[in-house]
Parts: sequence; C-alpha cells; structure tokens
Amino acid sequence: MNLTELSITELSRAYARGDASPREVAAAYLDRIDKINPRLNAYISIIADMAMEQAEAAEKIISRGEQTSLTGAPLAIKDLICLKDVKNTCASRMLSGFIPPYDATVITRLKKAGTVFLGKVNMDEFAMGSSTEHSCFGPTRNPWNMDYAPGGSSGGSAAAVAARLCAGALGSDTGGSVRQPASHCGVVGLKPTYGRVSRFGLVAFASSLDQIGPLAGNVTDCALLLNAIAGYDSMDSTSAPRPVPDYLASLAEGLKGFKIGLPEEYFTAGLDPEVEKAVLGAINNLKKQGAEIVKISLPHTEYAVAAYYIIAPAEASSNLARYDGVKYGFRDKSSQTLMDMYQATRSAGFGPEVIRRIMIGTYVLSAGYYDAYYRKATQVRTLIRQDFERAFEKCDVIAGPVTPAPAFKIGEVIDDPLTMYLSDVFTLSTNLAGIPGMSVPCGLSSTGLPIGLQLMADFFREDNLFKAAYNHERLSDYTFGRAAPDIQALSNQAG
Ligand code: GLN
Repeated sequence: MNLTELSITELSRAYARGDASPREVAAAYLDRIDKINPRLNAYISIIADMAMEQAEAAEKIISRGEQTSLTGAPLAIKDLICLKDVKNTCASRMLSGFIPPYDATVITRLKKAGTVFLGKVNMDEFAMGSSTEHSCFGPTRNPWNMDYAPGGSSGGSAAAVAARLCAGALGSDTGGSVRQPASHCGVVGLKPTYGRVSRFGLVAFASSLDQIGPLAGNVTDCALLLNAIAGYDSMDSTSAPRPVPDYLASLAEGLKGFKIGLPEEYFTAGLDPEVEKAVLGAINNLKKQGAEIVKISLPHTEYAVAAYYIIAPAEASSNLARYDGVKYGFRDKSSQTLMDMYQATRSAGFGPEVIRRIMIGTYVLSAGYYDAYYRKATQVRTLIRQDFERAFEKCDVIAGPVTPAPAFKIGEVIDDPLTMYLSDVFTLSTNLAGIPGMSVPCGLSSTGLPIGLQLMADFFREDNLFKAAYNHERLSDYTFGRAAPDIQALSNQAG
C-alpha cells in the first residue's frame, strides 16, 4: 500500500481498520515532500514537527473512538490563511517575519476534526495572479510537466495535491484562484458561495470577492473538507447564518430531471479546440446519465474581465494600505522620515504585480475617475449577477470550461499582464455574482496537460455542484488517480 496515493476517504478507512496510522502517513508525506518539493516548489514552509505532533494527537482521537472522516488527513494550507505560530508570508517580502498569533476559523475547525498540517504552500503574492509566478519564493512548477506553470494563485495547493505532497489543501478564490490551478493540475477545486466559509484569518485581497475553498484528488474528499470548514462564524460578519447541509449526501448516483445549462458565451472563438472537446465530452456523459442539457445565455460575460480588474484592484488598494512598515513584517530601516519609510517600505516590500494593482486601484477610486470606472464596474457586476439569476430559472448547474486553454509555460505570459488577465474570463463572473463554482478534471491535451470542467450553481447550492461532479467523476477516465502525473518520473526529475 502506497500511503501517499490514498485519498482522504481511503486513509480514513485505513485508520479505522488499523491498517495505517496518522504518524506513519505524515512521515511518508514528509519524506516525499523532502524528495520532490525542492524542484516543484509547492511548499514554502514545511512544518514537520508540528505535523508529527498533530498526527500523534490524531492517533489519540482514533484510539478514543472519536475519529471523524478528516482525522489524520494530511493537508497543505495556502500561505495566506493564518496558522498560529507558523509564518504567514502571502509569498510577499512585505510579510517577512510575520507570525500570526492566532488560527483562522477554517484552521480551528480542521484542527477540531483532527487533521494534520504538513505546511504552507506557495501562491502568487497576495493572491494576485494566475500562475504562481508572482511569488517572492519563485514559481511553483506543474507536476504534469515541470516546464509549465500550475496556474494560480493557489498554484502551490493544486500542485501539492497533484504531486501527492498532501491529501488535500485549502486555497482561496477571488477570481478563479482555486478553480483555475485545480484545472491546470488535474485535481478537484471548489469556490464556495460568498459567505459559506468564514474568512476570519484569511489575509484580505478583495473582500467582496474572496472565498476560501478546498482542493482534493476527488469530489468526495472535497465535500468532506467543505463539510468541515463551512458555516457561520461570529468573527466574520460576511459569513452566512445558514445551516450547513451534509454535502456527502449529494454524492448520489443518477441525474434524472437534473438540468445542465450551456452558456453560449463560454463556447466562442477564443476557446482552445482541445478544451472545447474535453468539456463537451464531459457534458455529453452527464447527458447519457439522464441530465437534460439546456441552452442558456450569460450576455454580460464579456464585461467580466473589465469589471473584475477594476473592482479587485480597488479593494486591494484599500486592503493593502495596512502594510506600512509599522504593523507587520518588513520595514525599510534606512529612511529618516515617516513618509520616506512608508514609501521605501512599500516600494521594496511589494512585487511588481501587487504594485500595479495598487496603482490601478488607487486610480479608479480617485475623485473624478470613480464614476467613470468604479461605479460603472459595480453596475456591470449587478448585470452579471442578474444573468445568473435568470439562467438558474432554467437549470440546476451551468457547465463550461474553466480556462480558455490548458496551462501555459513558466515565463510565457508573465510580462504580458493583459493576456494573463484575459485568461480569467470564465472564472471571474462567479466571484462577481457570489455564486459557487467548481473545477473537475475532464481531459488531457495532446501535450499531456490537464483540462478542467467548470460547474457553477445558484447561491448556496454547492450540493448541486457535488451531485453533477460526482456523477461526472465516477465515469470519467480523467479522474485523478485514473489519470495522474507520472509519479516515478516526478521522483526522478526531483532534486
Ligand atoms: N487571477 C485573478 C487575479 O489575478 C484571480 C486571483 C484570485 O482568485 N486570487 O486577480
């Protein structure tokens, strides 16, 4: 039995039977991380001692007969979710030396379930980007082909799951940062409804868009993770006071009477033919299982990129004002005056993409431009939400591509921010509207890179996402494990 190849669900069964122990499993993962991470660069902090202590605690939970499905599950956490006493960098020089004195609510909940945290994983600086290249720790590589980017900004989370350097992970999704890297790395990733998961302890990027979401090798594991982290939290006033259903209950076979909407705007000229083929193939398989396919329209899709790249930078410019060299992390020590210190700290502490966003954000919020840009963008946002409201009168989920093309090479688009922004065209709308979205593997390109199917559902209808995804997954050749990066080659390429 290769311990690092077991899903969270399989691990949990192995623990219950006494076939494996959390310490054995944590050690196997740490060993694998040692071998493969130096080249992959998914982890930026490995917390071996803490992981082994948690694994020991998990064993006690099991021996007391209090095991949950997540007890002893080895996880990776994106480095913008606070884990008490472990440095939290957001992949930025700005936060160097910052150690959070508290746990994010999602961490508190996972700790209660008895999970094991192996470490913190790489990301685009402050989650701004689509490739994990904007990191002060250097890019993470795509386990399917080390010359390619894993997507972003939760690229470390997706690559770690795909390379079996963890059994599941948490990421954050402001405009696609869970779904897009999940798609590029061939794993499952979910962005919950805005308000479904508490963001207390998540470093803010764009507060009206940010959500924490799980990534895992399969749909069931993803449901287990959402079960644990979802629900109201008095520490986050935007978390919704609604009961959390058991998402495992949605993983039932059969799609009779289930309606899947195909948005015409998602199947246009810019879509890579291989992506189109894989996505339509997956939709066809859902149809064969009884789902009804209906044509829908999301007419304001083409404005999503423009609206998002005004709203997100505007909120970022405000959120990131707190990094002034006084309260957190990095400070330029050579300055003589306060103003000089602010300026020098922020110029040296932030990378170029973050600086670009702060400048765009400050510009669109400034007097005279506010009406022309920010206000217009929020109006477009309402139109995008109304598109979805109309669409969900006709269908239970909407299906389409996650990205216009499979992963790009490291270095290929980093100097062309506009091209990078445009590649987010299919993921931004769900964040602007607030609805949940998911990526599940549905194909491989001729170059051997994963392709994801995106599913979107109405507010708080994650159950419908799980239902469609589960039925897709059980018959798909591309489900992780049936198709996975060459583990042997990965170990050989390592070092
Ligand atoms: N790629 C998008 C951006 O750069 C989304 C990032 C995210 O979801 N955190 O803003």
